[in-house]
Amino acid sequence: MSHRFVVVGGDAAGMSAASKAKRENPDLDVVVFEKGEWVSYGACGLPYFVKGDIPDIEDLVAVTPEAFREKRNIDLRTGHEVTAIDTDEKTVTVEAGGETTTEPYDTLLVATGARAIEPPFEGMDLPGVFTLHSMESGEALRGYLEREVLADDAGAGSVAVIGGGYVGVEMAEAFAEHGLTVHMFEMLPHILQPFGEEVAEVVEEHLREQGVELHLDTRVEGFVGGEELSGVETEAETYDAELAVVGVGVAPNAELAAEAGVERGDSGAIAVDEYGRTNVSDVFAAGDCAEATHTVTGSPDYVPLALTANRAGRAIGQTVTGDPTTVGEIAGTAAVKAFDLEAARTGILDEPRAKQHGFEPTKVTITASSRAHYYPGAKELQVTLVADQETNRVLGASMVGEEGAAKRIDTVAAALDAEMTVDELQNLDLAYAPPFSPTWDPVLTAAKVLAGKLGD
Ligand SMILES: Cc1cc2nc3c(=O)[nH]c(=O)nc-3n(C[C@H](O)[C@H](O)[C@H](O)COP(=O)(O)OP(=O)(O)OC[C@H]3O[C@@H](n4cnc5c(N)ncnc54)[C@H](O)[C@@H]3O)c2cc1C
Repeated sequence: MSHRFVVVGGDAAGMSAASKAKRENPDLDVVVFEKGEWVSYGACGLPYFVKGDIPDIEDLVAVTPEAFREKRNIDLRTGHEVTAIDTDEKTVTVEAGGETTTEPYDTLLVATGARAIEPPFEGMDLPGVFTLHSMESGEALRGYLEREVLADDAGAGSVAVIGGGYVGVEMAEAFAEHGLTVHMFEMLPHILQPFGEEVAEVVEEHLREQGVELHLDTRVEGFVGGEELSGVETEAETYDAELAVVGVGVAPNAELAAEAGVERGDSGAIAVDEYGRTNVSDVFAAGDCAEATHTVTGSPDYVPLALTANRAGRAIGQTVTGDPTTVGEIAGTAAVKAFDLEAARTGILDEPRAKQHGFEPTKVTITASSRAHYYPGAKELQVTLVADQETNRVLGASMVGEEGAAKRIDTVAAALDAEMTVDELQNLDLAYAPPFSPTWDPVLTAAKVLAGKLGD
């Protein structure tokens, strides 16, 4: 009998693993159980679907279920929820269409992703209050927006975004595009916490310029309404809102594995080694349900992002075919579009966190030009670079500006992976032509200034 590779969860991590395993070994029996109807979808595109840039939600699907079944020969079963794992018997319990069956596995991948956190707010279940994580939630949100908000007001209504993370920022832009007044509530002093204060302050000013009503240091206490949402309550005031999206973070779907004896890390996500193996033999985990090793700290971390999921899934798919492949480390490299701004970050930016891992961080923030100063259209680009004072090792960076931030961060991400010092970073041979950067790329300028500070 052929080896049976069973995957739980049919999105980025799960389908990458299934596809890679089947490509490497067509004789492998690859079965994927996905509880929903969507597979291989780009949830990252949902804010742009709500905004209207992506006209059809189907456009977010990379590979259809039919293509997985017919072209890739994967036994993909949508509408099938795995409700239990028995690691002694090596079986999973599956519920579909009211029937419960038991399915055997030789190797199991848990790729169950994460879910949007739903705070225990009063009125959280009112029509008009949404989280945004699944394709279904994206469809429901856009439908409600069109039917209940835009049709009534021709763009004159008010909406609320709870949480100033990257999904919140993307949603503020999406709603503003429809001419709505957007209230954004953030309980911390700044939005975009992982990007650091330097970036947050620039983005906050830009959001205000774009008409977003920003309420920082403001804790939402609940929602009010009769048959549907009519307002958002904070300690001090109630604000009108016909629709609210709650984007206060995600929680890993790790319970299914944990109930089967799979260990979780401090973050609550599934603990894995460099091959994505859990503590239970023949059980792997990948993507938003699992931890990964941080490039800078060398410790387990939880940063649920799409490339991490795709990459780990692909590596595990390869490992399962007998070619052990590491899942790779993470640096928390991320970018977000905020109206006309690009913001990006990588590595360790905050001082307490750096210190906790034994570093003595120091940083500089510089402002440079995104193109040669004489070239039309040049924009200001702010770069913050952080390094360890003892070793001069680069620890992280953030960037913000109207152009050149989102992909320029990758230079620093590569430097982190190579454990470069600030001197090594400043000596990199980076591309230059007037339309793309100044002769000294802003990353090199930041490294020069930081090298000077470290040398003082
Ligand atoms: C609005 C939004 C914007 C985002 N933007 C970005 C971005 O710009 N950049 C970026 O890097 N990342 C972004 N992300 C994150 C990115 O989408 C995730 O990191 C990625 O989808 C993780 O893939 P995954 O396969 O681990 O999990 P998921 O995509 O969550 O998929 C897990 C799947 O498992 C299924 N499942 C769960 N439990 C079971 C079960 N018991 N049985 C059967 N099936 C089950 C679920 O139905 C789901 O389909 C964004 C996410 C959202 C929601």
